[in-house]
Amino acid sequence: MELIGKWILIVLLEIAGLGGAVQTISGQAAAESAPQAVSAEDSAEGEMGIISGMERHILAMLDGLVYIPSAYADLEVQNMASVGEVAFPVFVVEFQDVKYTDSKVDPEEVRRWVFGEDDESVAGFYYISSYGRLQMEGDVYYYTAQGNIADYESNAGVEALVMEMLDYYDEEVDFSQYDINGDELLDTLILSVPIGGDSSFWWAAQHTWYENWGYSVDGVFPLKYIVSDEQPYQKTRTYYVSTLRHELGHCMGLPDYYKYNYTGVDFEGLHGLAGKEMMDDSQGDFSQFSKLQLGWLTREQVQIMPDDAQRMTFSLPPAVQGGCVLIFPPGQEPNFQGEYFLVEYITPEGYHKGTFSQGGVRVLHVQAEMMTQDGYYYSYKYNNFSPYYDSSNNGIRVLKLVNDGNGFYHEGDVVTFENTGGAAGNFGWYTEEGTITDPGFEIRIGEMQEDGAIEIEVIRKTGW
Ligand SMILES: [Zn+2]
Repeated sequence: MELIGKWILIVLLEIAGLGGAVQTISGQAAAESAPQAVSAEDSAEGEMGIISGMERHILAMLDGLVYIPSAYADLEVQNMASVGEVAFPVFVVEFQDVKYTDSKVDPEEVRRWVFGEDDESVAGFYYISSYGRLQMEGDVYYYTAQGNIADYESNAGVEALVMEMLDYYDEEVDFSQYDINGDELLDTLILSVPIGGDSSFWWAAQHTWYENWGYSVDGVFPLKYIVSDEQPYQKTRTYYVSTLRHELGHCMGLPDYYKYNYTGVDFEGLHGLAGKEMMDDSQGDFSQFSKLQLGWLTREQVQIMPDDAQRMTFSLPPAVQGGCVLIFPPGQEPNFQGEYFLVEYITPEGYHKGTFSQGGVRVLHVQAEMMTQDGYYYSYKYNNFSPYYDSSNNGIRVLKLVNDGNGFYHEGDVVTFENTGGAAGNFGWYTEEGTITDPGFEIRIGEMQEDGAIEIEVIRKTGW
């Protein structure tokens, strides 16, 4: 998998008739790095074929590729960009009274976990998952806070800690390098803390700056940042990395798909093997829905069932290549921020490798309307935080899995209102009350084709 990034580039170049040019495209210009920081550009590791945003943009134009804009394209003032280049600092912090054990890895190791040019790192995951659309870089800093951990256990306290760190490093670091798009906001910032404080306060989460409006360093303001209590030890590397993958999804604008209110251990929003999603259980990859929202799919990859077609067959490539089939409510213009069904074909490749042995087709019910509740921050109308959200989790949700908990669909399967639980299932259009009604179509899973794509047939019922 190490060469997947380069492989995508080669495919792009071959489509553009530029195969011979692969060797001429190299990494981006080195960013200025701080003396005590470990910079991503210093790495002598094998290249993954990372190219700059501008080069990628030119390649896409040569290709005639037209990307569907990110759902957050006009909201960059509140989010980290999900397309192009972003950069951020990672602060691994200790306190006067609470420190890591001797198993703590050195900053260069943490830098490899987060920014390494391989498919295991956080940056490698985003590069590959985004099909080359998003490139992350940054630096790792170790810092010992002046106070004890309890001194920082409040919203104001954690902001005070961030300001303390930034002010400490200000003389030697130009923090404007972490504002790639020049919107005067730090793209993001990661604060990594040791276990030993109040565990009800220090859990992994994306925070939004609000106590200290007006604070800036080198002309950039903090906004969305991440606090993580995953530990920088070799044995906890997997958690360290997967938590950052999830929280960075929030920095770009994605909501949680899991349930905040639940009984027992049933927190997942999408159950079973077919329910793996980075914003649900922090496993596997992002779904095609998340990738559509993030601006990682082309118009060609998003196939739409025509409103006037009675039946149509689609050739659906594996999600590792990118692509989905969408079905919108009858009589409605396609709106990626509205309600629709999304069909995707998941194979045990890429970041789903090892998650399951076979994979298959899954159908997601989407309601992606966005709104502002405070006149400023936009978010999903039916996310967990929203006043429109039914906290029983049984009403309208941003994302539900059809045939939830029962695995993938395979060749010969038919998805119908009746065999997915009827009104008690997830295969139907929402009513205003949050119940569902017969969608008026069914989905048949056809054969796998020579090119690895699978046939998907959408059939509208007569009389609809
Ligand atoms: Zn989350």
